[in-house]
Amino acid sequence: MNLSDPIESSLSAELLTLIRLVKTEVESLGLPLFIVGGSVRDLVLGRRLNDFDLTVEGDAIALARSLASKHGGKVTVHAKFSTAKWFLPNNLRSDAESPDALDIVSARSETYQHAAALPTVRTGSIKDDIRRRDFTINALAIRLDGPHFGELRDDLNGMDDLQNGMIRVLHPRSFIDDPTRMYRAVRYEERYQFKIGEDTLALIPEARSLIEKLSAQRIRHELDLILEEPNAVSMLARLDEMELLAPIHPALSNFNQSNLATLKSDDAALQNRQSRWILWLMHLTEQEIESVNVRLHFTADLLKTLHSAALLNANQTAVVGLKPSQCVELLDGYSLRVIETVYHVLPNGEINNKFSKYLSQWRHIKPKTTGHDLKKRGLKPGPKYAETLRRLRAAWLDGEVKNKEEELMMLTHLLR
Ligand code: ATP
Ligand code: MG
Repeated sequence: MNLSDPIESSLSAELLTLIRLVKTEVESLGLPLFIVGGSVRDLVLGRRLNDFDLTVEGDAIALARSLASKHGGKVTVHAKFSTAKWFLPNNLRSDAESPDALDIVSARSETYQHAAALPTVRTGSIKDDIRRRDFTINALAIRLDGPHFGELRDDLNGMDDLQNGMIRVLHPRSFIDDPTRMYRAVRYEERYQFKIGEDTLALIPEARSLIEKLSAQRIRHELDLILEEPNAVSMLARLDEMELLAPIHPALSNFNQSNLATLKSDDAALQNRQSRWILWLMHLTEQEIESVNVRLHFTADLLKTLHSAALLNANQTAVVGLKPSQCVELLDGYSLRVIETVYHVLPNGEINNKFSKYLSQWRHIKPKTTGHDLKKRGLKPGPKYAETLRRLRAAWLDGEVKNKEEELMMLTHLLR
C-alpha cells in the first residue's frame, strides 16, 4: 500500500517542506527514513497530527546536526537514546502556530531486564523499532526516502487492527515488561472507540500485580495524559471497571461519580489537567491525599491545590448565612481555579449562589480609594492601610456604601 496521497493532503505545507529537507539529507547519506507509530495511525484515521516522529535507520544525531549546519537552527540531543531535536530556524516557521522543532530518532531495539523497569536501549533496524512498540495500531511505519516515499510497512497486521478498531499488544509479555501499556490501551480504546482484543485483555490479570513496581513518575504521567483527554471520564470509569485504579492507590478507585461526571462539562474553566485532578480527588480527606501523594509524587503546586480544594469542598457550608464581605474574606483564601472547580459540583441553593456571586461579581468589587490616596491623606504606611481598604471594600460588598461620596464619608470616619 502506498500512502503518499494522505501524506501530501493531510500535512501542512510547512511539515511537507521539512520532510523534503530531511529526505534530501538522508538520500545523500543513503539512510532509510520513516514516520512510525502514532503519527501513522492518526494519518490513516484522517486525524490531525499533533506530533510527528521521524525515525532514521542510522545516526539521528548526526542527521539532525547536518540539517542544522545546512539550514540553521539548533540541535539538542539525548545520546543515550540516540534521539535529537532540531529547533528550526525562523525561516522554516511561518507563524507561531507552526512547529518549533522536529524530533528525529534512531531506529532502536529495546529489551527488558526486569518487569516494569525501564528498557535497555540499543540502536537497531526499523524491524526492531517496530517490535518494541505497545500495540499493532502503533506499529505501522511509512517510508519516506527516495522512490520508497509513501510505502506502508505493516509487519504486524496493524492496518487490519486499525480498520477493525482493535487494540492488540505485540506479544504476551508486553504488559509485564511495561504495565503502563494497560493504561495506554484504555486511553486509545476510549479515544477512538476501539476495543481491546480478547487475547490482550486476558494478559491483564497477570500484569496487575506489577503496577506497584512502576515508578511514581511513570504512572502519574499516564494519569496526566488521561486527564488531558476529552473522554477522560470514560477512561477513568473503564480503568476502574478493569480494576486498574485501585492497584495504584485504593483512594483513586473510590471516586465520587457525580463530581467526576462534571469532567464531561465543556465549561472552559475545567478544560485543564489541574481542574480534572481536583474533580477526581477533592472528596478525599487530607490524609488520603497525602497517602495518594506518597504513591504519585504530585508536583508541589498540584499537591497544594488538591489540599486546598479538599478543604474548601469539606467546608463549603461555612458560607451559609455569611454577609457578602464575609464570603469574600473566606473565598479570597483560595485560588480562582480551586473555587471555580469546586463551584461546578455544588448543588443549587445558597452555597451555589454565593460561589456564583463571588465568581461573577464580588471578587471584582474594590473601593475607589487606593493606597496612594491614603498616603495623600497623611496615613503612615503600615497595617492600617490594608485594614482601611478592607473595611471600605466590605462596605461596598455589603451595600453600606453605594457611591464615591459615601465611601469618602466613611473613609473620613475611619481615619478619625
Ligand atoms: P498520542 O496521540 O497520545 O501522542 P502516540 O501513539 O503518538 O499517541 P506517544 O506517547 O506520543 O503516543 O508515543 C509515540 C509512539 O511510541 C507510540 O505510537 C508507540 O508506538 C510508541 N510508544 C509510546 N509509549 C510506549 C510504550 N510504553 N511501550 C511501547 N511503545 C510505546
Ligand atoms: Mg504522540
